[in-house]
Amino acid sequence: MEPITGITRGGTPWTPEFAVALNARVCIGCGRCYKVCTRDVLELIDRSEDDLPDDDDEDDSDSIASVMSLANPMDCTGCGACSRVCPKSCFTHQPMAAAA
Ligand code: SF4
Ligand code: SF4
Repeated sequence: MEPITGITRGGTPWTPEFAVALNARVCIGCGRCYKVCTRDVLELIDRSEDDLPDDDDEDDSDSIASVMSLANPMDCTGCGACSRVCPKSCFTHQPMAAAA
């Protein structure tokens, strides 16, 4: 099935890649993605014990107290900005099939 596509102001087609997952075990809670998302999709939350980073460093305990979450995934426009700025490659993106 064909994915839904958008169009730039200049008429060039592009395929939105929606944020569908965020790897909490890799996220360092830096907030970069939150700053660039224009759709309020993301929210910084307290980290659960199950989501401790794989490369946990005791000297960095303050920054791992929080983790980013996909609080409002249905508001995502698939712009991809979050992944552009994420230093840990936390996001998984997928295009969405167009309705038949
Ligand atoms: S793809 Fe764009 S709209 Fe979606 S979460 Fe990332 S920055 Fe926000
Ligand atoms: S940019 Fe990446 S590492 Fe930083 S808070 Fe967002 S998801 Fe986590």
